[in-house]
Amino acid sequence: MTGDPFNPAEPLEPGSVIGIIGGGQLGRMIAIAAREMGYRIAVLDPDPDSPCAPIADHVVHGAYDDRDAARDLARMSDVLTYEFENVDSDAAEAAGEITQLWPSGSVLRTAQNRVLEKGALNRHGLPTADFRAVETLEQYLAALKELSGPWVLKTATSGYDGKGQVVVHEADDGAAFRELEGRSPTLILERFVPFKLELSVICARDRSDSTVTFPASENIHVNGILDTSIVPARIEPHVAERAAELAKSVAEAIDVRGLISVEMFLTGDDEILINELAPRPHNSGHYTIEGCLTSQFGQLVRVLCGLPLGSVDMPQPTVMVNLLGDVWEATGGRPDWHTALELPGTNLHLYGKAEARPGRKMGHITAVAESVELALERARDARERARRR
Ligand code: AMP
Repeated sequence: MTGDPFNPAEPLEPGSVIGIIGGGQLGRMIAIAAREMGYRIAVLDPDPDSPCAPIADHVVHGAYDDRDAARDLARMSDVLTYEFENVDSDAAEAAGEITQLWPSGSVLRTAQNRVLEKGALNRHGLPTADFRAVETLEQYLAALKELSGPWVLKTATSGYDGKGQVVVHEADDGAAFRELEGRSPTLILERFVPFKLELSVICARDRSDSTVTFPASENIHVNGILDTSIVPARIEPHVAERAAELAKSVAEAIDVRGLISVEMFLTGDDEILINELAPRPHNSGHYTIEGCLTSQFGQLVRVLCGLPLGSVDMPQPTVMVNLLGDVWEATGGRPDWHTALELPGTNLHLYGKAEARPGRKMGHITAVAESVELALERARDARERARRR
């Protein structure tokens, strides 16, 4: 061990081991950034061939709720983090008793549960859609009366990419409740927000409470899954400032050390409501790899290792489009990267997943250009070219 991870004043020397719970594409990109800076990687994942495994120095094979495996990871690591919030918080906290876990187990618990998350935000005066926690049909029917519709009913835990949620359009006799009942102990009924666009801001907060916020991303979802991130978001400067302030307030309110990704809705009258938090790198922040002087992954590594936060300046507009398994399906498994990458300013990222299923995130393309319109056109065109073989 080089440097004391429990001592905030002491940075971890290169060669130290960063332990990551979860070996998906986010873990892989954290690992790539860490390796560039000379750190070593241990990863815990149920799949021994996870996307992070080829980049890692040590692979711990175990389920996300396997406390022994989590402790094994902790023993071989100088600092710990996680790459998604559906890892088991008890296992993460057990690991955190051995080696410092950032963001903390308490941040993880809050972000795992939409009711706790929205409750914590509201307690700190941070705006969200009105909501009610519901556990029974009676509570659900009462909540429909209390909040004006339309509504969205969601599982409080384990939802991602729009899974585990139902839009409820008119007073319903309980059908939506019955559809989701049992998928998580508590459901959350939210007012449907007629947003004009969706934004996200990633805030990094370090060991000495300094914060930086990456430029706000305008996010377009298709079928509940992020499709396109456009940066800078096409919003008034004062709205971008407000979004950045909100993300910073969230980081301070829930005491994040690491990254917090804050998803927001922008309403027709430019009001911002916070939808969801993710205490980790975020798909909408992949644009930072080429777009910003420091990527979201490099920034997390800096926080974990006690290094100063890096610049988040973005020299040119940047757009990211996700590549889902559908692109492989459309091309018999061989997307045309050659024609796609002929477009200037485009870059390809593939996550090394062997099986391309529809809806599965396989990679992304980023385009950097002089204008946001051109970056958007090139990113979309590149994906279309890849799909057209
Ligand atoms: P979530 O899993 O909460 O991030 O939701 C996935 C997507 O569903 C969001 O990005 C929105 O497009 C949509 N959505 C979720 N909650 C609401 C809401 N209260 N009002 C309107 N749209 C929503």
